[in-house]
Amino acid sequence: MTSLSTAVEKLRQKEPAPVGVSLEVFPAKDEDGLVALAALARRLEPFAPEYISVTYGAGGSSRERTLATIEALRAATNTPIAAHLTVVNASREETMAVAERFRAAGVDHIVALRGDPPDGASHFAPHPQGFANAAELVGALREHWPDLRISVAAYPEGHPESPSRAADLANLKAKFEAGADEALTQFFFDNTLFSDFLEEARAAGIAGDIHPGIMLIPNFFQVRNFAERCKASVPEWLSRRFAGLKGRKDGDSLLVHRMLAAAFAVEQVLDLAARGVRHFHLYTMNRPQLAEAVCRALLGGPDGES
Ligand SMILES: Cc1cc2nc3c(=O)[nH]c(=O)nc-3n(C[C@H](O)[C@H](O)[C@H](O)COP(=O)(O)OP(=O)(O)OC[C@H]3O[C@@H](n4cnc5c(N)ncnc54)[C@H](O)[C@@H]3O)c2cc1C
Repeated sequence: MTSLSTAVEKLRQKEPAPVGVSLEVFPAKDEDGLVALAALARRLEPFAPEYISVTYGAGGSSRERTLATIEALRAATNTPIAAHLTVVNASREETMAVAERFRAAGVDHIVALRGDPPDGASHFAPHPQGFANAAELVGALREHWPDLRISVAAYPEGHPESPSRAADLANLKAKFEAGADEALTQFFFDNTLFSDFLEEARAAGIAGDIHPGIMLIPNFFQVRNFAERCKASVPEWLSRRFAGLKGRKDGDSLLVHRMLAAAFAVEQVLDLAARGVRHFHLYTMNRPQLAEAVCRALLGGPDGES
C-alpha cells in the first residue's frame, strides 16, 4: 500500500473531485433493529452520504423487512434510500411488483441483482417465468423507469460461478449495456485487486463508474468465513494481525480487535483514495462506529465543529 502520509496529502489537495460515501445496511429484524438503523442514519448524516442502500434477503425472504427498513430510514433521515432487489424464486411479474412497491415507498434507486441460489443449492436456477440474471432485471427496470438510478454488482476477484475473468467482465458489460448507471464491488482486502480489475474493465470497454465495496470488520473471524464463500481472498498479512484474538471476549482483546479493524479500514480507504477512488460503498454491517471512523478519515469531522 502507498504510505499513509502520501495518501492523506493527496486527499487534502481535494483532487480531482470531492470524496463521497454510500452506506449499505441489511434489513432490521425487529423494532429495536429499526431504531438502531434510524440512529445510524442520523449519526452518519453529517457526512452527507450519497445514499443508504438496504439489502434484500435470499429468495425475497426479507422483502417485508426491507420495506419496513426503507420506511423507517426515510422517516429518520433526508439521505436518499436505495433498495436492493433480486430475481430469485420470483416471476418477472412478482419481481417488478416488488420494484413498484419500492417506488411507492419513495425509492429512486435500485441495486439490481440476480441473488444467490436459495437454501444452499449449488447452482442458480431461474424461476420458469423469472429473470435469468441481473442484466435482464436491469433491462426491465430501465425500460419501465427511464429515470431510475440502477446499480449492479461487480467482482474484483471473479464471481464464484464465473467460468473465467473474460466471462465475468462480459457479464458486467452486459449489465451496463442493459442500462445500469454504476457498479458496486464485492468486498476485497488487497487494493491491487481492485486497481487491476478497474484496468481490465476499462480495457474490456466498460466506461461506467465502478465503486469499491469496503467491508468494515465487526468480527474478523466471521468475515473471513464469509469471504471464503464469496471468493474474496484474505491476505495472510491481514490474518496475522488478528491471530490469537479468536474467541477472546475480555474487554482489552475486544478493544484491540476494534482498533485493528478501524486501522485497517482507514488504511484501505486512504490508499484507494490515493489511487484516485472518489466514492466508497461502505458495508456497515448495521454498526455506525467503523463507518464514522472511515468517514472522518476521508472527509474530516462535520463542518462547523472543532
Ligand atoms: C454490492 C453487492 C450487493 C449485494 N446485495 C445482495 C442482496 O441485497 N441480496 C442478495 O441476495 N444478494 C446480494 N448480493 C450477492 C449477489 O446476489 C450474488 O453474488 C449473486 O450470486 C450474483 O448476483 P449478480 O447480480 O452479480 O448476478 P449476475 O450479474 O446475473 O451474474 C453473476 C454471475 O453469474 C453467472 N452468470 C450470469 N448470467 C449468466 C449466463 N447467462 N450464463 C452463465 N453464467 C451466467 C456469471 O458467472 C456471472 O458472473 C450482493 C452482491 C454485491 C457485490
